[in-house]
Amino acid sequence: MPSVRFKKILIANRGEIAVRVICACKDLGIQTVAVYSEADRYSSHVRFADQAICIGPAKSARSYLDIPSIISAAEITGVDAIHPGYGFLSENATFAEVCEASQIKFIGPGPEVIRMMGVKERARAFMRELGVPILPGSPGVLTSPEEGLELAAKVGYPVILKASAGGGGRGMRIVNGPGELPSLFLQAQHEAGSAFSSPDVYLEKYIGAPRHIEFQILADEHGNVEILGERECSVQRRHQKLLEESPSPAVTDAQRAEISAVLRNAIAQAGYTNAGTVEFLMDEAGKLYFIEVNARVQVEHPVTEFVTGIDIVKSQIRIAQGETLSEILPGPVELRGHSIECRINAENPETFVPSRAYTDCVIPPFYDSLVAKLITYGSDRAEAIQRMQRALSMFIVEGIHTSIPMQQRILADPDFQAGNFDTNFIKRFLPGPK
Ligand code: ADP
Repeated sequence: MPSVRFKKILIANRGEIAVRVICACKDLGIQTVAVYSEADRYSSHVRFADQAICIGPAKSARSYLDIPSIISAAEITGVDAIHPGYGFLSENATFAEVCEASQIKFIGPGPEVIRMMGVKERARAFMRELGVPILPGSPGVLTSPEEGLELAAKVGYPVILKASAGGGGRGMRIVNGPGELPSLFLQAQHEAGSAFSSPDVYLEKYIGAPRHIEFQILADEHGNVEILGERECSVQRRHQKLLEESPSPAVTDAQRAEISAVLRNAIAQAGYTNAGTVEFLMDEAGKLYFIEVNARVQVEHPVTEFVTGIDIVKSQIRIAQGETLSEILPGPVELRGHSIECRINAENPETFVPSRAYTDCVIPPFYDSLVAKLITYGSDRAEAIQRMQRALSMFIVEGIHTSIPMQQRILADPDFQAGNFDTNFIKRFLPGPK
């Protein structure tokens, strides 16, 4: 398949990631079309794009999630491709299919792959077949509480019930003993059914103090796959990441090489293309287990860009043009130095309640509360931390509360500095019982 050159790309997103894609397009000499809701008329993605089209009212369901409006905007402006960013329609297989049917290239994996990765117990079974370690649990969807009881007795409590089509940390239930399982199974099914398209749930061993570690992948449309190291994302509250870094202080070189080798094969076998993230949990003994694939670019992709020197968003566009990884990448992937990202959220630093203003404000209350991402690089982890502390102390945001004071306390913590933390770490910084 000969590669093409896109002339114009529509960005089906808003805020930070829309601006990020516009930057990559400018670097590649590609024209951009922004779409925006009525609440975003004065947003920077609208200002920096070459063209902008209003696609509906503030409510996402009637604008950023409205497939017919977005496709109409793409057809009116004559774009070659659509970049979906993260969130919104980025992992919507139907959207990818509609783009294809409209002769517009979707910058992401193909619809079948998105669909398969979106069914989490299927992705789990697939990865297991190919030698990627997974947590012990159900082979597929859990059909009854009895089956759950039988499996949990084998796996050992605690276990976790998870929604097959889940996302955003919803639809999960931790089960500490057999007495709780039947009612939690029904609750999990009910929540999954109302929050997602399907009530299906599956069961997995629960890890009490895990680290969240994810591997960045790039795959071209010719069967080549590269693994761009990992990111440590254990500093999170209610599954919302607050600070990410690369590499992880907990992953050894041997472990990185081992996981990268099995992933390279698994991703190629899946027919996966474009960028993606494979998420793992690390147990208390330091072993990594696959949990899910995110078939899109992630918020925290810049830390990987800093340590590898690879522009992930530009790579996504060039992969979608049909170019090979050997044309796109400067040479073998190597990790150099250390990078940290802080998500600057507009929120109360103690309670995490979103901090909003309504009149004369440019942070619309309709979407998430991310206002900025601050990324630092250092020759080692200590230098990256120091630079982040310095940069945060000089970061001035007026008129709203932000997450900055919380991030300053995290960075000053001796355990954080020693690389000694897991997903429970944040609790010590929150009010209430620890
Ligand atoms: P989602 O797609 O909803 O984000 P994930 O499978 O990625 O769901 O899990 C989200 C988070 O939930 C993980 O980062 C981790 O903190 C926690 N979690 C998920 N599975 C387990 C497990 N088996 N043991 C312990 N924690 C888990």
